[in-house]
Amino acid sequence: MSSQEAIWSPLWRSQVVNQLKQTDSQWDMLIVGGGITGAGIYREATSLGLKVLLVEQRDFAWGTSSRSSKMVHGGLRYLGSGQLGLANDSVKERQNLMNELPGLVNPLPFMMGHYKGMFPGPWIFDKLLAIYDFMAGHRYRKYFSKGIRDFFVPGMNTSQLKGATQFSDAVTDDARLVMRVLHEGNTDGGTAVNYLKAVDTLKTETKGIEKVSGLKLEDQISGEQFEVSAKVVINASGTWTDELRQTLGQKKVIRPLRGSHLVVPFWRLPSAFTVSFFHAKDKRPVFVFPWEGVTVIGTTDLDHQQNSNEESSITREEIDYLLDAANLQFPEANLLKGDIRATWSGVRPVVSKNQDKAVDSNTPNKPSDEKREHAVWDDQGLISVAGGKLTTYRLIAMDVLQKAAPYLPEISTDFKKTSHFKPSTLSSGFVELSSELKKRLLGRYGAHAHTLVSHARELENGLEKISTTDTLWAEIIWSCQSETVQHLDDLLLRRTRIGLLLDDGAEEVFSGIRDICQQYLAWDDVKWQAERKRYQNIIKRHYSLPE
Ligand SMILES: Cc1cc2nc3c(=O)[nH]c(=O)nc-3n(C[C@H](O)[C@H](O)[C@H](O)COP(=O)(O)OP(=O)(O)OC[C@H]3O[C@@H](n4cnc5c(N)ncnc54)[C@H](O)[C@@H]3O)c2cc1C
Repeated sequence: MSSQEAIWSPLWRSQVVNQLKQTDSQWDMLIVGGGITGAGIYREATSLGLKVLLVEQRDFAWGTSSRSSKMVHGGLRYLGSGQLGLANDSVKERQNLMNELPGLVNPLPFMMGHYKGMFPGPWIFDKLLAIYDFMAGHRYRKYFSKGIRDFFVPGMNTSQLKGATQFSDAVTDDARLVMRVLHEGNTDGGTAVNYLKAVDTLKTETKGIEKVSGLKLEDQISGEQFEVSAKVVINASGTWTDELRQTLGQKKVIRPLRGSHLVVPFWRLPSAFTVSFFHAKDKRPVFVFPWEGVTVIGTTDLDHQQNSNEESSITREEIDYLLDAANLQFPEANLLKGDIRATWSGVRPVVSKNQDKAVDSNTPNKPSDEKREHAVWDDQGLISVAGGKLTTYRLIAMDVLQKAAPYLPEISTDFKKTSHFKPSTLSSGFVELSSELKKRLLGRYGAHAHTLVSHARELENGLEKISTTDTLWAEIIWSCQSETVQHLDDLLLRRTRIGLLLDDGAEEVFSGIRDICQQYLAWDDVKWQAERKRYQNIIKRHYSLPE
């Protein structure tokens, strides 16, 4: 699909939506869902030369993929519960992503304390980690018997502490990972449009057999509806997977499980490590980890019964549960509700064990008993996928393409040979940037990092950091220019994360943000005020303490 405007520039979206409405174009593949699962399929499908349209009902990564725990991890928990395949795949993907996206997927050391009479003891934990390290092809584990709270994790509870084991996983910015993957797909000729919702499946009948042949779409900005057709339709809509499948008479299979997090200032709970431990109340694993200059405490695992059309929100019970966990592990910190800077909650699209029964009927098994593996279904040419993890998004994409292959006879099914990310560098001329900052920008923006920095140099404060965050003012400008920002929350909660990292959704820097939105998105005062109100409402209802 051609558009006069450069891809994802401020005017691009309306031009492309107009073309979609007016022309009766046939796509190879339509993808519903702009989370990591949809993005991964988009990236792999475009690299095979397919003509692909991805539609997202809200903003890219608006669903679970901006509200995960942000670990790119093998999942020791999966290993412990015998899900060896998932653990092995995840460890290998973790290694691949760390190698390919340094600066966006970074190693993160973990620490697990061993307390007298409590699980896990150092010996058994070492054996588990030996398998984990074997899968990675690298030894990361190390045992410490001294200096734990002095040198490694200040304030950690040392009563009855025998020692601690260090091991390694990785951490990312989940929403930026989605954007990076989508950018790669754009470069290979794909079309990804936000605020475009699939409202129904279209079917055609050949020789008495019905097949899904397209979608009815609704533009969430203008409210207009129109139809698009494709050889195959992919449903990667996460916790909403059942909705499109139900248009074909399928039963519900998704059990939505919520997990919530607290953000506190780093100085209130400083740690260079992720501290992993078991909650005293229910023995579930919880962790405290450093992320983007703040400390995060997570997570819970509960049936999610809130309205699925709104962002999920933390409850009072979850706040108490997470504060109790942190205060037991770090008694001296004495964290209070007033220390909480932000919260976020995500919903796991878990494929329930009770697939053959309707899962509405209150499934008896505990949330933590549910397996986290993904599943793929082909219902009359609607290929649906759900479950799995952020970490394994590429493997999930391969499985989906295998399932879609019968509808796309022209493609080769030797998918594993495709490379994920195009290599990119920043010229050595940018002497004012530290190597750490270069890595961060390259990881996040790939080949676009060069343009971002070149433009930043021409601006007065382009290379300055925003308040106490690592985000540059130039990143805000870049996103406005080149990342189809429609609302203020797109910019402050997903393109950048400053709404989660600064007090009150980053209100202290609003005047600078307003100037940029007015200059680069052409928002007048009325539009800015409306966006500000909308954003503050979202922050209050979904990213703060409950009232
Ligand atoms: C609390 C929590 C912590 C987690 N931590 C980790 C972790 O540390 N590491 C890890 O690897 N994994 C983690 N996960 C799992 C991981 O986040 C998810 O598996 C992954 O983000 C799911 O991505 P998705 O694209 O399938 O779903 P989503 O990100 O929810 O994307 C689906 C998208 O589809 C869109 N959509 C829905 N219906 C329509 C429609 N009709 N038309 C158009 N668009 C539609 C939605 O708006 C949404 O944006 C965690 C999950 C949770 C909940």
